[in-house]
Amino acid sequence: MSLTSFNQIRVSSAALRHNYRLLQQRAGNGVRVLAMVKADAYGHGMEEAADVFASVGCKDFGVAEIGEAVRLRSAGVIGNVFVFLGFRPEESGLFFEYDITPIIYDLESAKSLSREALKRGQEKVVHLKVDCGMGRLGILPQEVETFVADLQELPGIVIGGVLSHFPKADEYDSQHSFEQFSRFEGVSAKAGKDRSLVKHIANSGGVLYFPDTCCDMVRAGISLYGYYPDGRVGREREKGEKLQPAMSFITRVLQVKTVPVDTGISYGHTYITKRETRLAVLPVGYEDGLSRSLSNIGKVLIRGKRAVIRGRICMNLCIVDISEIEGVQSGDEAVILGPQGNDCISGDEIAEWMNSISYEVLCLFGNNNERKYRE
Ligand SMILES: *Cc1c(COP(=O)(O)O)cnc(C)c1O
Repeated sequence: MSLTSFNQIRVSSAALRHNYRLLQQRAGNGVRVLAMVKADAYGHGMEEAADVFASVGCKDFGVAEIGEAVRLRSAGVIGNVFVFLGFRPEESGLFFEYDITPIIYDLESAKSLSREALKRGQEKVVHLKVDCGMGRLGILPQEVETFVADLQELPGIVIGGVLSHFPKADEYDSQHSFEQFSRFEGVSAKAGKDRSLVKHIANSGGVLYFPDTCCDMVRAGISLYGYYPDGRVGREREKGEKLQPAMSFITRVLQVKTVPVDTGISYGHTYITKRETRLAVLPVGYEDGLSRSLSNIGKVLIRGKRAVIRGRICMNLCIVDISEIEGVQSGDEAVILGPQGNDCISGDEIAEWMNSISYEVLCLFGNNNERKYRE
């Protein structure tokens, strides 16, 4: 018997495949769709998710750090693997050993790659990150010409691509992405005239809302996992085929009990019963990614109906009100995220309760619980 948790994350590989195909369709034929599998594929499991995307044609994968890239290779992932956050000079050898593509934004790391390239008698293709308006990582547009000239001086370094990132592509009506895109076009012309230079700037919002910005490659994250970057608004706006959320979070009722009026519930008694109340105790807490900010706010599904969280969420437990739900017993399935009966709690809804975005909900749940893949 294998020891398993009460809590289980289920990931639908069919949904992941559907989303990848849909994104490929939206981006257009010939545009590469890079799967962002950083943060353990937004909580869906990096190696498993990469494998599913590869099965429907994905040949480009993005991660934050070199350690994740090495893990991908060790799991047998082929194709291009991009490391987006940079690296320490002593790690440059790994980019050759595991055939990983670095994103470059400073000369020091390019120099360390060049030294490694000389030592090995090899070349390293790098992509150049330009900050065209995100205000985050990347060299500034006015630095591009000098930087490119410096890179061209470095033996063994080949500029294979140039990229930028949108800060507001989730804002359907904003002009900002158009402005940033035209700046990007100017900058990428300066990075090289070579037609083989791979240009990429679009994230999920770019592909879905600004399809003219898809260039040679797009970097899709949240959409591959079934969510719109602007949440429920985006899903409702969608008139065609919709993205399908791939993750659900299932647990079990530990205990059912009825308490009298005026009973304080959980630490700090932040909830006092207003009448005789039936409660179910669930083995899920903030350690399992159920944010404490959902105390007295969040809802879960039991027997297809919504039960509100009462009192503070603890480390491994929370308490929900089942007064309006008939026949609940210990051992019953409780759904934190996903469908049950005719209802469904989405990552967008939980994110709204938390004042956050679906991205955070998926990472919190997915990366703190046991995961199982199924069709
Ligand atoms: C995470 C990330 C993406 C993907 O963004 P989504 O909004 O999830 O599609 C694209 N590009 C970069 C540089 C990223 O860090």
